[in-house]
Amino acid sequence: MTEKCSFCGRLKKDVNILISGTTGFICDFCVDQAQVIVNEEIEKKNKFDLKKVRLLKPAEIKRFLDLYVIGQDDAKKFLSVAVYNHYKRIMNPVSVDDVEIEKSNIILVGETGTGKTLLARTIAKMLHLPFSIVDATVLTEAGYVGEDVESILTRLLQAADYNVKAAEKGIIFIDEIDKIARKSDNPSITRDVSGEGVQQALLKLLEGSIVQVPPQGGRKHPEQKLIPIDTTNILFICGGAFEGIEKKIAFRLNTKVVGYNALRTSDHIRRDNMLQYIAPQDLRMYGLIPEIVGRLPVLTYLEPLDREALRRILTEPKNAIIKQYIKLFLMDNIELTFEEDVYDYIVDKALEFKLGARGLRSICELIMVDAMFEMPSKGARKLTVTRQYSEEKLGKANLHRLKAA
Ligand code: ADP
Repeated sequence: MTEKCSFCGRLKKDVNILISGTTGFICDFCVDQAQVIVNEEIEKKNKFDLKKVRLLKPAEIKRFLDLYVIGQDDAKKFLSVAVYNHYKRIMNPVSVDDVEIEKSNIILVGETGTGKTLLARTIAKMLHLPFSIVDATVLTEAGYVGEDVESILTRLLQAADYNVKAAEKGIIFIDEIDKIARKSDNPSITRDVSGEGVQQALLKLLEGSIVQVPPQGGRKHPEQKLIPIDTTNILFICGGAFEGIEKKIAFRLNTKVVGYNALRTSDHIRRDNMLQYIAPQDLRMYGLIPEIVGRLPVLTYLEPLDREALRRILTEPKNAIIKQYIKLFLMDNIELTFEEDVYDYIVDKALEFKLGARGLRSICELIMVDAMFEMPSKGARKLTVTRQYSEEKLGKANLHRLKAA
Protein backbone atom coordinates (compact mmCIF):
# COMPACT_ATOMS: atom_id res chain seq x y z
CA MET A 1 0.00 0.00 0.00
CA THR A 2 1.36 3.48 -0.88
CA GLU A 3 1.69 5.65 2.19
CA LYS A 4 -0.10 8.98 1.88
CA CYS A 5 -1.52 11.73 4.11
CA SER A 6 -5.00 10.84 5.26
CA PHE A 7 -5.98 14.53 5.26
CA CYS A 8 -4.75 15.92 1.96
CA GLY A 9 -3.86 12.76 0.11
CA ARG A 10 -0.28 13.82 -0.72
CA LEU A 11 2.05 10.89 -1.28
CA LYS A 12 5.00 10.24 1.03
CA LYS A 13 7.45 11.24 -1.71
CA ASP A 14 5.75 14.64 -2.09
CA VAL A 15 6.03 15.75 1.54
CA ASN A 16 8.87 16.40 3.98
CA ILE A 17 7.58 14.26 6.81
CA LEU A 18 4.72 11.82 7.00
CA ILE A 19 3.72 10.93 10.56
CA SER A 20 1.88 7.69 11.07
CA GLY A 21 -0.94 7.23 13.53
CA THR A 22 -2.92 4.17 14.53
CA THR A 23 -5.32 4.42 11.63
CA GLY A 24 -3.70 6.82 9.20
CA PHE A 25 -1.02 9.37 8.34
CA ILE A 26 -0.57 13.12 8.52
CA CYS A 27 1.95 15.16 6.56
CA ASP A 28 3.90 18.21 7.74
CA PHE A 29 1.78 20.54 5.56
CA CYS A 30 -1.38 19.39 7.29
CA VAL A 31 0.23 19.65 10.72
CA ASP A 32 1.05 23.30 10.00
CA GLN A 33 -2.44 23.90 8.68
CA ALA A 34 -3.97 22.26 11.74
CA GLN A 35 -1.85 24.43 14.03
CA VAL A 36 -3.18 27.57 12.35
CA ILE A 37 -6.77 26.36 12.77
CA VAL A 38 -6.20 25.46 16.43
CA ASN A 39 -4.71 28.89 17.15
CA GLU A 40 -7.57 30.64 15.40
CA GLU A 41 -10.15 28.66 17.29
CA ILE A 42 -8.46 29.31 20.64
CA GLU A 43 -8.22 32.99 19.84
CA LYS A 44 -11.89 33.06 18.89
CA LYS A 45 -12.82 31.33 22.11
CA ASN A 46 -10.80 33.73 24.26
CA LYS A 47 -11.69 36.83 22.29
CA PHE A 48 -14.76 37.69 24.28
CA ASP A 49 -13.79 35.97 27.52
CA LEU A 50 -14.09 38.77 30.04
CA LYS A 51 -12.17 36.78 32.65
CA LYS A 52 -9.07 37.30 30.54
CA VAL A 53 -9.56 41.06 30.33
CA ARG A 54 -7.81 43.61 32.50
CA LEU A 55 -10.34 46.31 33.11
CA LEU A 56 -8.91 49.64 32.02
CA LYS A 57 -9.69 52.64 34.20
CA PRO A 58 -11.51 55.58 32.56
CA ALA A 59 -8.32 57.65 32.55
CA GLU A 60 -6.50 54.83 30.75
CA ILE A 61 -9.28 54.53 28.21
CA LYS A 62 -9.08 58.25 27.57
CA ARG A 63 -5.31 58.10 27.17
CA PHE A 64 -5.82 55.43 24.54
CA LEU A 65 -8.36 57.61 22.73
CA ASP A 66 -5.87 60.49 22.89
CA LEU A 67 -3.47 58.48 20.74
CA TYR A 68 -5.88 58.54 17.82
CA VAL A 69 -8.33 61.39 18.33
CA ILE A 70 -7.31 65.03 18.68
CA GLY A 71 -9.17 67.20 21.20
CA GLN A 72 -12.80 66.34 22.03
CA ASP A 73 -11.99 65.99 25.72
CA ASP A 74 -15.56 66.21 26.87
CA ALA A 75 -16.78 63.44 24.59
CA LYS A 76 -13.74 61.29 25.44
CA LYS A 77 -14.37 61.63 29.15
CA PHE A 78 -18.05 60.67 28.90
CA LEU A 79 -17.27 57.83 26.57
CA SER A 80 -14.50 56.44 28.78
CA VAL A 81 -16.70 56.48 31.85
CA ALA A 82 -19.61 54.90 30.02
CA VAL A 83 -17.49 52.08 28.63
CA TYR A 84 -15.84 51.50 32.01
CA ASN A 85 -19.22 51.32 33.73
CA HIS A 86 -20.52 49.03 31.02
CA TYR A 87 -17.67 46.60 31.74
CA LYS A 88 -18.28 46.76 35.48
CA ARG A 89 -21.93 46.14 34.91
CA ILE A 90 -21.52 43.08 32.72
CA MET A 91 -18.72 41.64 34.80
CA ASN A 92 -20.79 41.77 37.98
CA PRO A 93 -24.29 41.01 36.81
CA VAL A 94 -25.70 39.81 40.10
CA SER A 95 -26.05 42.51 42.64
CA VAL A 96 -25.56 41.46 46.23
CA ASP A 97 -27.33 44.43 47.69
CA ASP A 98 -30.01 44.74 45.02
CA VAL A 99 -28.47 47.92 43.70
CA GLU A 100 -28.81 47.42 40.02
CA ILE A 101 -26.47 49.43 37.85
CA GLU A 102 -28.50 50.73 34.95
CA LYS A 103 -26.90 51.08 31.59
CA SER A 104 -26.04 54.50 30.32
CA ASN A 105 -26.42 54.70 26.58
CA ILE A 106 -24.66 57.69 25.11
CA ILE A 107 -25.43 60.25 22.46
CA LEU A 108 -22.64 62.24 20.80
CA VAL A 109 -23.65 65.41 19.01
CA GLY A 110 -21.20 67.18 16.74
CA GLU A 111 -20.78 68.55 13.24
CA THR A 112 -19.96 66.02 10.59
CA GLY A 113 -16.27 65.22 10.34
CA THR A 114 -15.35 66.13 13.90
CA GLY A 115 -14.50 62.61 15.05
CA LYS A 116 -17.68 60.85 16.21
CA THR A 117 -17.14 57.72 14.15
CA LEU A 118 -13.41 57.89 14.78
CA LEU A 119 -14.07 57.86 18.53
CA ALA A 120 -16.33 54.85 18.17
CA ARG A 121 -13.84 52.99 15.97
CA THR A 122 -11.00 53.75 18.34
CA ILE A 123 -12.93 52.51 21.35
CA ALA A 124 -13.62 49.34 19.36
CA LYS A 125 -9.88 48.74 18.94
CA MET A 126 -9.37 48.30 22.65
CA LEU A 127 -12.52 46.41 23.49
CA HIS A 128 -12.77 42.72 24.09
CA LEU A 129 -16.43 42.92 23.30
CA PRO A 130 -18.33 42.54 20.06
CA PHE A 131 -18.75 45.93 18.49
CA SER A 132 -20.57 47.11 15.41
CA ILE A 133 -21.28 50.37 13.66
CA VAL A 134 -24.57 50.88 11.89
CA ASP A 135 -25.98 53.77 9.97
CA ALA A 136 -29.45 54.88 11.02
CA THR A 137 -30.19 56.20 7.53
CA VAL A 138 -30.70 52.69 6.14
CA LEU A 139 -33.29 51.79 8.75
CA THR A 140 -36.95 51.85 7.90
CA GLU A 141 -40.10 50.63 9.49
CA ALA A 142 -40.83 46.96 8.97
CA GLY A 143 -42.53 46.46 5.64
CA TYR A 144 -40.79 49.31 3.86
CA VAL A 145 -37.81 49.23 1.52
CA GLY A 146 -34.64 49.36 3.58
CA GLU A 147 -33.43 47.48 6.60
CA ASP A 148 -35.46 46.51 9.64
CA VAL A 149 -34.19 47.77 12.95
CA GLU A 150 -33.34 44.18 13.93
CA SER A 151 -30.57 44.24 11.33
CA ILE A 152 -28.58 46.32 13.84
CA LEU A 153 -28.38 43.20 15.98
CA THR A 154 -27.47 41.00 13.02
CA ARG A 155 -24.30 43.04 12.61
CA LEU A 156 -23.46 42.68 16.28
CA LEU A 157 -24.09 38.96 16.14
CA GLN A 158 -21.74 38.69 13.17
CA ALA A 159 -19.11 40.73 15.03
CA ALA A 160 -19.48 38.25 17.89
CA ASP A 161 -18.82 35.32 15.55
CA TYR A 162 -22.41 34.23 16.27
CA ASN A 163 -21.65 33.87 19.97
CA VAL A 164 -25.03 35.02 21.33
CA LYS A 165 -23.85 35.39 24.94
CA ALA A 166 -21.02 37.67 23.81
CA ALA A 167 -23.30 39.68 21.51
CA GLU A 168 -25.67 40.30 24.40
CA LYS A 169 -22.88 42.23 26.16
CA GLY A 170 -21.65 44.08 23.12
CA ILE A 171 -21.63 47.70 22.07
CA ILE A 172 -23.41 49.21 19.07
CA PHE A 173 -22.63 52.56 17.55
CA ILE A 174 -25.60 54.01 15.67
CA ASP A 175 -24.39 56.74 13.36
CA GLU A 176 -26.58 59.55 11.97
CA ILE A 177 -29.29 59.07 14.57
CA ASP A 178 -30.50 62.58 13.71
CA LYS A 179 -31.66 61.31 10.33
CA ILE A 180 -34.53 59.40 11.92
CA ALA A 181 -35.81 62.47 13.73
CA ARG A 182 -39.38 63.42 13.04
CA LYS A 183 -39.30 65.95 10.24
CA SER A 184 -41.99 68.24 11.58
CA ASP A 185 -43.19 68.98 15.07
CA ASN A 186 -46.62 67.59 14.25
CA PRO A 187 -46.88 63.92 15.03
CA SER A 188 -47.34 62.27 11.67
CA ILE A 189 -50.62 62.70 9.86
CA THR A 190 -49.45 60.52 7.02
CA ARG A 191 -47.14 57.67 7.82
CA ASP A 192 -43.59 58.76 8.33
CA VAL A 193 -41.38 56.03 6.89
CA SER A 194 -38.06 57.30 8.09
CA GLY A 195 -39.07 58.95 11.31
CA GLU A 196 -41.23 58.04 14.24
CA GLY A 197 -41.91 54.43 13.29
CA VAL A 198 -38.21 53.70 13.20
CA GLN A 199 -37.71 55.48 16.48
CA GLN A 200 -40.41 53.34 18.09
CA ALA A 201 -38.72 50.20 16.79
CA LEU A 202 -35.34 51.41 17.98
CA LEU A 203 -36.77 52.21 21.38
CA LYS A 204 -37.47 48.53 21.95
CA LEU A 205 -33.80 47.73 21.48
CA LEU A 206 -32.65 50.57 23.70
CA GLU A 207 -35.07 49.69 26.46
CA GLY A 208 -33.93 46.11 26.61
CA SER A 209 -36.07 43.36 25.21
CA ILE A 210 -35.77 40.00 23.55
CA VAL A 211 -35.54 40.55 19.85
CA GLN A 212 -35.80 37.88 17.16
CA VAL A 213 -32.80 38.45 14.93
CA PRO A 214 -32.28 37.10 11.41
CA PRO A 215 -28.70 35.77 11.53
CA GLN A 216 -28.07 36.56 7.85
CA GLY A 217 -29.89 39.90 8.05
CA GLY A 218 -32.31 41.35 5.54
CA ARG A 219 -35.51 39.90 4.24
CA LYS A 220 -33.89 38.00 1.42
CA HIS A 221 -33.66 34.84 3.49
CA PRO A 222 -37.20 34.29 4.78
CA GLU A 223 -36.35 30.69 5.61
CA GLN A 224 -33.62 31.53 8.11
CA LYS A 225 -34.19 30.59 11.71
CA LEU A 226 -34.43 33.64 13.93
CA ILE A 227 -32.12 33.91 16.94
CA PRO A 228 -33.47 35.53 20.11
CA ILE A 229 -31.15 38.19 21.52
CA ASP A 230 -31.65 39.99 24.80
CA THR A 231 -30.66 43.66 24.42
CA THR A 232 -30.79 44.50 28.13
CA ASN A 233 -27.00 44.58 28.47
CA ILE A 234 -26.06 45.94 25.08
CA LEU A 235 -24.57 49.42 25.26
CA PHE A 236 -25.73 51.84 22.60
CA ILE A 237 -23.67 54.81 21.52
CA CYS A 238 -25.44 57.13 19.13
CA GLY A 239 -23.93 59.89 17.03
CA GLY A 240 -25.42 62.63 14.94
CA ALA A 241 -24.69 66.05 13.45
CA PHE A 242 -28.16 67.44 14.24
CA GLU A 243 -27.66 70.17 11.69
CA GLY A 244 -29.31 73.39 12.73
CA ILE A 245 -29.82 72.36 16.35
CA GLU A 246 -27.79 75.39 17.43
CA LYS A 247 -30.83 77.53 16.64
CA LYS A 248 -32.96 75.48 18.99
CA ILE A 249 -30.31 75.70 21.72
CA ALA A 250 -30.00 79.45 21.25
CA PHE A 251 -33.76 79.84 21.31
CA ARG A 252 -34.01 77.92 24.57
CA LEU A 253 -31.17 79.85 26.17
CA ASN A 254 -32.62 83.17 25.08
CA THR A 255 -36.12 82.46 26.24
CA LYS A 256 -34.73 81.36 29.54
CA VAL A 257 -32.68 84.44 30.10
CA VAL A 258 -35.43 86.91 29.24
CA GLY A 259 -36.43 88.80 32.34
CA TYR A 260 -33.86 87.01 34.39
CA ASN A 261 -30.56 88.70 34.59
CA ALA A 262 -30.61 88.55 30.80
CA LEU A 263 -27.46 90.40 29.96
CA ARG A 264 -25.12 88.72 32.35
CA THR A 265 -26.16 85.20 31.46
CA SER A 266 -25.96 85.71 27.72
CA ASP A 267 -22.55 87.32 28.17
CA HIS A 268 -21.23 83.95 29.17
CA ILE A 269 -22.58 82.15 26.15
CA ARG A 270 -19.89 81.36 23.60
CA ARG A 271 -21.65 81.76 20.28
CA ASP A 272 -18.96 79.94 18.32
CA ASN A 273 -19.79 76.63 19.91
CA MET A 274 -23.42 76.42 20.90
CA LEU A 275 -23.35 72.64 21.06
CA GLN A 276 -21.66 72.72 24.44
CA TYR A 277 -24.96 73.93 25.90
CA ILE A 278 -26.97 71.11 24.39
CA ALA A 279 -29.64 69.61 26.63
CA PRO A 280 -32.07 66.69 26.20
CA GLN A 281 -34.98 69.01 25.42
CA ASP A 282 -33.10 70.29 22.35
CA LEU A 283 -33.03 66.74 20.97
CA ARG A 284 -36.77 66.52 21.55
CA MET A 285 -37.33 69.81 19.78
CA TYR A 286 -35.26 68.46 16.91
CA GLY A 287 -37.61 65.55 16.50
CA LEU A 288 -36.41 62.65 18.62
CA ILE A 289 -39.27 61.18 20.61
CA PRO A 290 -39.02 61.76 24.38
CA GLU A 291 -38.74 58.03 25.10
CA ILE A 292 -35.63 57.74 22.93
CA VAL A 293 -34.09 60.82 24.51
CA GLY A 294 -34.83 59.32 27.91
CA ARG A 295 -33.00 56.14 26.95
CA LEU A 296 -29.88 58.06 25.99
CA PRO A 297 -29.09 59.61 29.36
CA VAL A 298 -25.48 60.57 28.63
CA LEU A 299 -25.44 63.50 26.25
CA THR A 300 -22.16 64.97 25.11
CA TYR A 301 -20.84 67.08 22.26
CA LEU A 302 -17.88 67.40 19.93
CA GLU A 303 -16.15 70.69 19.27
CA PRO A 304 -15.87 72.12 15.78
CA LEU A 305 -12.28 71.62 14.58
CA ASP A 306 -10.28 74.84 14.45
CA ARG A 307 -7.02 75.55 12.63
CA GLU A 308 -4.87 74.21 15.43
CA ALA A 309 -6.86 70.97 15.69
CA LEU A 310 -6.64 70.38 11.93
CA ARG A 311 -2.90 71.00 12.02
CA ARG A 312 -2.50 68.45 14.80
CA ILE A 313 -4.72 65.91 13.03
CA LEU A 314 -2.33 65.96 10.08
CA THR A 315 0.68 64.81 12.04
CA GLU A 316 -0.05 63.77 15.62
CA PRO A 317 -2.44 60.79 15.80
CA LYS A 318 -0.85 57.36 15.85
CA ASN A 319 -2.01 56.78 12.30
CA ALA A 320 -1.90 60.41 11.16
CA ILE A 321 -2.21 61.00 7.41
CA ILE A 322 1.35 62.30 7.08
CA LYS A 323 2.73 59.29 8.96
CA GLN A 324 0.88 57.04 6.54
CA TYR A 325 2.52 58.65 3.50
CA ILE A 326 5.94 58.38 5.10
CA LYS A 327 5.33 54.70 5.73
CA LEU A 328 4.03 54.10 2.21
CA PHE A 329 7.17 55.62 0.72
CA LEU A 330 9.40 53.79 3.15
CA MET A 331 8.06 50.54 1.78
CA ASP A 332 9.70 51.56 -1.49
CA ASN A 333 12.86 52.57 0.41
CA ILE A 334 12.15 56.23 -0.20
CA GLU A 335 12.71 58.68 2.61
CA LEU A 336 9.83 61.13 2.51
CA THR A 337 9.93 64.42 4.41
CA PHE A 338 7.64 67.43 4.53
CA GLU A 339 8.70 70.99 5.18
CA GLU A 340 6.79 72.46 8.11
CA ASP A 341 4.96 75.14 6.14
CA VAL A 342 3.39 72.49 3.92
CA TYR A 343 1.18 71.56 6.86
CA ASP A 344 -0.03 75.13 7.30
CA TYR A 345 -0.73 75.31 3.60
CA ILE A 346 -2.81 72.11 3.66
CA VAL A 347 -4.78 73.36 6.67
CA ASP A 348 -5.33 76.75 5.02
CA LYS A 349 -6.79 75.03 1.98
CA ALA A 350 -9.02 72.77 4.07
CA LEU A 351 -10.37 75.83 5.88
CA GLU A 352 -10.67 77.94 2.75
CA PHE A 353 -12.80 75.33 1.02
CA LYS A 354 -14.61 74.33 4.22
CA LEU A 355 -13.51 70.73 3.81
CA GLY A 356 -12.92 69.93 7.48
CA ALA A 357 -10.81 67.02 8.66
CA ARG A 358 -12.04 64.73 5.89
CA GLY A 359 -10.67 67.20 3.37
CA LEU A 360 -7.15 66.92 4.74
CA ARG A 361 -6.74 63.50 3.21
CA SER A 362 -8.17 64.54 -0.16
CA ILE A 363 -5.84 67.54 -0.29
CA CYS A 364 -2.81 65.41 0.64
CA GLU A 365 -3.79 62.89 -1.98
CA LEU A 366 -3.85 65.59 -4.68
CA ILE A 367 -0.42 66.81 -3.60
CA MET A 368 1.08 63.33 -3.41
CA VAL A 369 -0.50 61.45 -6.30
CA ASP A 370 2.13 62.35 -8.92
CA ALA A 371 4.96 61.40 -6.59
CA MET A 372 3.24 58.15 -5.66
CA PHE A 373 2.86 57.40 -9.34
CA GLU A 374 6.36 58.28 -10.46
CA MET A 375 8.70 57.65 -7.55
CA PRO A 376 8.57 53.85 -7.32
CA SER A 377 9.92 53.47 -10.87
CA LYS A 378 12.41 56.35 -10.62
CA GLY A 379 14.80 54.71 -8.23
CA ALA A 380 15.25 57.89 -6.18
CA ARG A 381 15.81 57.43 -2.46
CA LYS A 382 14.57 60.76 -1.14
CA LEU A 383 11.68 63.16 -1.58
CA THR A 384 11.16 66.43 0.25
CA VAL A 385 7.74 68.00 -0.17
CA THR A 386 8.01 71.78 -0.07
CA ARG A 387 5.32 74.39 0.00
CA GLN A 388 6.12 75.37 -3.57
CA TYR A 389 5.78 71.77 -4.70
CA SER A 390 2.42 71.50 -2.91
CA GLU A 391 1.17 74.74 -4.41
CA GLU A 392 2.10 73.52 -7.89
CA LYS A 393 0.33 70.20 -7.46
CA LEU A 394 -2.74 71.67 -5.88
CA GLY A 395 -2.83 74.59 -8.30
CA LYS A 396 -3.75 72.22 -11.08
CA ALA A 397 -6.47 70.54 -9.09
CA ASN A 398 -9.98 71.75 -8.71
CA LEU A 399 -10.66 71.92 -5.00
CA HIS A 400 -14.24 72.91 -5.56
CA ARG A 401 -14.79 69.38 -6.75
CA LEU A 402 -13.84 68.05 -3.32
CA LYS A 403 -16.46 70.17 -1.69
CA ALA A 404 -19.25 68.13 -3.13
CA ALA A 405 -17.69 64.92 -1.81
P1 ADP B 1 -17.99 62.15 12.02
O1 ADP B 1 -18.33 60.74 12.39
O2 ADP B 1 -18.03 63.09 13.19
O3 ADP B 1 -18.76 62.67 10.84
P2 ADP B 1 -15.41 61.06 11.43
O4 ADP B 1 -15.05 60.52 12.75
O5 ADP B 1 -15.85 60.09 10.40
O6 ADP B 1 -16.48 62.20 11.55
O7 ADP B 1 -14.17 61.90 10.88
C1 ADP B 1 -13.73 61.85 9.54
C2 ADP B 1 -12.22 61.76 9.46
O8 ADP B 1 -11.63 62.99 9.87
C3 ADP B 1 -11.65 60.73 10.42
O9 ADP B 1 -11.53 59.47 9.81
C4 ADP B 1 -10.30 61.30 10.76
O10 ADP B 1 -9.35 60.99 9.78
C5 ADP B 1 -10.52 62.79 10.74
N1 ADP B 1 -10.87 63.34 12.06
C6 ADP B 1 -12.02 63.96 12.40
N2 ADP B 1 -12.00 64.39 13.65
C7 ADP B 1 -10.80 64.05 14.16
C8 ADP B 1 -10.18 64.22 15.44
N3 ADP B 1 -10.80 64.86 16.44
N4 ADP B 1 -8.94 63.71 15.61
C9 ADP B 1 -8.29 63.08 14.59
N5 ADP B 1 -8.82 62.89 13.37
C10 ADP B 1 -10.06 63.38 13.13
